[in-house]
Amino acid sequence: MDKIEHIGIAVKNLEDSNTLFTQLLGVPHYKMEEVASEGVRTSFFKSGPNKVELLEATNTESPIAKFLEKKGEGIHHIAFSVEDIKAEISRLKQEGFTVLNETPKKGADNKLVAFLHPRGTNGVLVELCQEIKEE
Ligand code: ZN
Repeated sequence: MDKIEHIGIAVKNLEDSNTLFTQLLGVPHYKMEEVASEGVRTSFFKSGPNKVELLEATNTESPIAKFLEKKGEGIHHIAFSVEDIKAEISRLKQEGFTVLNETPKKGADNKLVAFLHPRGTNGVLVELCQEIKEE
């Protein structure tokens, strides 16, 4: 695994949190994106070389809606960038981790993503993400 790519934070209201994080970081978000298949709307901030992703649920079945219901707002996942997500998935499976997406799926920010079950990672939802390369 490479560096931490971003930290994902679950929020109730993306507009309110965009305002809050703009005040906190001193820069506005640089993109917003809806991932309809995941039931989320996201916005991305840069803080130096690091990124923060805010996630809002767009429907009640969204994993973010369920997270907010259970735990309230807060850190939702930590994403690590990887060079080759398929190789990393098979490596982690061999190590005994529970990979939630055997086949990586298209996430926000032009990434292929897969998640590890937090049960096997000390309660932290881990996202692997690989930049989708131009053909
Ligand atoms: Zn993420």
